[in-house]
Amino acid sequence: MTNTKNELTGPRVFVVVDDKKKGKIHLTGGYAKPEMNKSMCGTKIGMKTIVDARDIAPREEYRDSHRWCKRCLGMLDFEALDQKVLFSAIEFSAGTYGQLVLAGHVSRNKPKLMLTPAPEKSEWRTVERD
Ligand SMILES: [Zn+2]
Repeated sequence: MTNTKNELTGPRVFVVVDDKKKGKIHLTGGYAKPEMNKSMCGTKIGMKTIVDARDIAPREEYRDSHRWCKRCLGMLDFEALDQKVLFSAIEFSAGTYGQLVLAGHVSRNKPKLMLTPAPEKSEWRTVERD
């Protein structure tokens, strides 16, 4: 595998939502499940809806950690910081995900964050302007 992990920016993590609103919210995508055929914890996705994490994780209704699959949130630890940040407002009894997990990552000074080289110019995500 040439998919070297970059700890600061990584592939998008998506959330798996049960349309009937029963059952926990799982995660997919990222380094763990790039093919998005299953949840990070191994649960089948089935007919559930895969949603951009930005529309669910940092939103008021989804702040309670009881709504989330704990095993998937545990796997989130191996994803890049820019993806973890989306989940920072989820609240556990001991504090938010941001306080419990992110604060340690951003305040540490060693080991240094592992970064990968910049992509070729042809692969840059440039912005179209009028
Ligand atoms: Zn899960």
